[in-house]
Amino acid sequence: MPSDLFIVGGGPAGYDAAMAAAKRGIKTTLVEKEHLGGSCLNWGCIPTKFLLGAVASLAELEGQVKMKTASGQIQLDLPALVDRKKRHLEATRKAMAAALDKAGVQLVRGELKMIGAVKSVVTVGDEPQVFEYKRCILATGSRPAAHPGLKADHDAILNSGDILSLREVPKSLLVVGAGFIGLELAQFFSRAGSAITLVEAAPRIAPSEDEEVSKALHQSFKRMGWDIHTGVRIAALENAAGRARLVLEDGREFGADKCLLAVGRLPNSRNLMLEMLGAEVKGAGWVHTDEHLMASPTVYCVGDVNGRTLLAHAASSQGEWAVRHFAGELSDPYEPGPIPGCMYGAPETMRVGIMEAQAREEGMDVKISRSQMVANPIAQAHGATGGLVKCVWGEGRLVGVTAVGHGVASLATLGTVLVSQGWTHKQCEEFIFPHPTLDEALKAALLGPAA
Ligand code: FAD
Repeated sequence: MPSDLFIVGGGPAGYDAAMAAAKRGIKTTLVEKEHLGGSCLNWGCIPTKFLLGAVASLAELEGQVKMKTASGQIQLDLPALVDRKKRHLEATRKAMAAALDKAGVQLVRGELKMIGAVKSVVTVGDEPQVFEYKRCILATGSRPAAHPGLKADHDAILNSGDILSLREVPKSLLVVGAGFIGLELAQFFSRAGSAITLVEAAPRIAPSEDEEVSKALHQSFKRMGWDIHTGVRIAALENAAGRARLVLEDGREFGADKCLLAVGRLPNSRNLMLEMLGAEVKGAGWVHTDEHLMASPTVYCVGDVNGRTLLAHAASSQGEWAVRHFAGELSDPYEPGPIPGCMYGAPETMRVGIMEAQAREEGMDVKISRSQMVANPIAQAHGATGGLVKCVWGEGRLVGVTAVGHGVASLATLGTVLVSQGWTHKQCEEFIFPHPTLDEALKAALLGPAA
């Protein structure tokens, strides 16, 4: 039986689209080749935070130990943690399948092989089957990138998916790539006891973040004993008798029990015959979408695979928006407003809107106001006083907020509201913040002198 909507990919983009469609009574089929929840649930957002959550108390206690208010040792049990994570992911996948079933979505466990305008071929088991529909939402996501000479062998050289299942903490871990994926995983293994060597081609770690944020992170990780090398290029990376061996172009060599490759993501668009639809595919396969998130007149393309924003909440927003567009609820171009991004751990970061460098490049009348976390009572209580909150004002309105420090990811939602509404200094003055909270670090930055 033909469906109205045929959705491919059960990650945040596809799953949330399917649930939004079912809510509207749209006859929906969802195809998933592996696990419901996609990268987010199985190899991304959720398992990484599960691991970081398990060592959060260690980070907290480190602060207390430094203040001589605690002592002693707590031992992480990695096999028990990995087993608990596995059970949690399995239970969540089950709950998702049950929710789809209850909502009336047809779930097909199969792999899309060829996409067409109104019919597609999916392999179910070993059998190719043809599915017909009015419109398709392609939400096939992304996978870890590999570059020539920089490939995971899934033994000593691991990608971000492999490393989540390690049952033994490596004594030493080389991390290639200092974006948020590399930094979050390095934080976990550092707290679990690995000696970290971090290698990044860009001149600074967290290169997409504001310069002051990336500097504060660098200092914080140095204090944790990490060996950090930025602005370096790799000449060779190999598995040498079960250990990772890395050689830089300047001749320096590093060895470690394991190496994590965190060098970006690639779109899952290979071999789907998208060209037959007239869809435009850029670079490594990122699918071009128009202002209505469409790759062709009958196919929406949402989430990581279109390369717009590689974050789960952006994927969900696009999936749900495509359904609303299909249902005729909206017709204006997709304009999501500022999309917050966070890095988790201890310390954390948050960023929303336009950062200082971009605002200056765009020729805005820019003013910056800041607060230091050292003055915040909650940061003080936790013995984690490094970091800052930075506000970017353009033409007298708040256009961006970023922060680094203890728990600052929790400032992202309020920051997003204020930036998306373009609050003025006067509006911020009239707003009451609860005391004592980390939010007051944002308040202090908003009300601090802007220059
Ligand atoms: P995916 O989640 O990749 O889902 C795509 C689905 O499509 C998969 O289930 C796949 O099996 C399926 N599929 C692919 N091809 C086919 C086919 N041919 N036929 C059938 N099915 C197919 N984002 C955040 O916002 N916050 C975070 O804290 C965060 N942490 C992360 C940590 C790590 C280590 C990683 C790797 C990513 C993290 N992300 C985070 C990014 C986030 O996981 C992705 O942005 C998000 O999962 C993208 O959702 P998606 O639905 O577009 O794709």
